[in-house]
Amino acid sequence: MTHTRQDYLDLDAKDPLAAQRALFDVPEGLVYLDGNSLGAMPKATAARVAHVLTREWGRDLIKSWNTAGWMDLPRKIGDKIARLIGANAGEVIVADSTSINLFKVLAAALRLNPTRKVILSERDNFPTDLYMAQGLSELLGQGHTLEFAEADAVHNAISQETAVVMLTHVNYRTGRMHDMLSITAKAHAMGALVIWDLAHSAGAVPVDVNDAGADFAIGCGYKYLNGGPGAPAFVFVAERYLAEFVQPLTGWLGHAQPFAFDWKYAPAPGIERAICGTPPVLSLAALECGVDTLLSADMSAIRQKSLALTDAFIALVEANCPELNLITPREHDLRGSQAAFTHPEGYAIMQALISRGVIGDFRAPDILRFGFTPLYTRFADVYDAAEALRDVMQSRAWDKPQFRQKNKVT
Ligand SMILES: *Cc1c(COP(=O)(O)O)cnc(C)c1O
Repeated sequence: MTHTRQDYLDLDAKDPLAAQRALFDVPEGLVYLDGNSLGAMPKATAARVAHVLTREWGRDLIKSWNTAGWMDLPRKIGDKIARLIGANAGEVIVADSTSINLFKVLAAALRLNPTRKVILSERDNFPTDLYMAQGLSELLGQGHTLEFAEADAVHNAISQETAVVMLTHVNYRTGRMHDMLSITAKAHAMGALVIWDLAHSAGAVPVDVNDAGADFAIGCGYKYLNGGPGAPAFVFVAERYLAEFVQPLTGWLGHAQPFAFDWKYAPAPGIERAICGTPPVLSLAALECGVDTLLSADMSAIRQKSLALTDAFIALVEANCPELNLITPREHDLRGSQAAFTHPEGYAIMQALISRGVIGDFRAPDILRFGFTPLYTRFADVYDAAEALRDVMQSRAWDKPQFRQKNKVT
């Protein structure tokens, strides 16, 4: 293990991704380890959005739906995201939020497996996924139930009763990563379909949905894809299902001919049928800049650096802060791009750390979460964050009423 700050600066000097940081507007003096929650802003974004505002909207007004290609953005950016997740062009589209896209694909999947009633997930899945499944089941009124397995027991819990396996590939709290290939294969062997939530995977770890044989996937635009706050999400439908993919949010822009203004719904032949309404053009422009930052780098280099960053951070924190308990897997095959620790005073510790310019976040009940985004996080940042955390712990700087004050967003 390396020990001085200079050692980490040396790692930065040898880092093949070091130049990518210049693509982002990361404030000087800040160590930003929350790109898994809100990715940093690419430098290209401000100019692009300004252009869409002042030129495309301001001057050209409604003509821009055609002349500036506004209507093509969901598919164009979907095709770019497809390259990040091992999908083909025409299998991914950008629309709505992750929650809404989950609703669409889950409804479509349950319809494709009509005799079975069990949706299998994890109790520890991101709550919105579970909530959407509960709401949809209630709406359908067909007796669907949500069942849970522990992360390492999912494989064995898939049975001939399972209609759909609905999992988040990388757990938002622990950073534990599922084996997409073996779980998908097991589900198919048992006659179940699989939905992968890639919110903490797309742009963070290598993903190959088609190699794994995944049926459906969804994911988030504002985390590792750097699309900006509330950026639209994406949805993947494997080509073999496109013709029979029937989702319930049958808005006009998912219609085969929206501008025929026919009274009767008929789905678009391709992935466009996953769309509901009018695309959010300003947000899409920002998202495209974010996705482009990832396409400018090699995913295997991103993965290699991500593991090196998390390895280094885990080693430093464990050496310096024995009271923090690692909950992220040490095995590389099981780890996404974050490191998380528990401590009963986790919230106050994180607030104290943030006050020193090291930004991670807190997840109830007791988790300190640090996301590592290799495009703009340096090895020196790892060292500085670990040093700040060591000092906060050793000095008990967190033990102040101001750091216990809970904010609305943690
Ligand atoms: C962040 C995240 C979401 C977010 O859903 P929104 O609809 O964008 O609010 C959904 N699922 C998972 C697993 C997430 O991590």
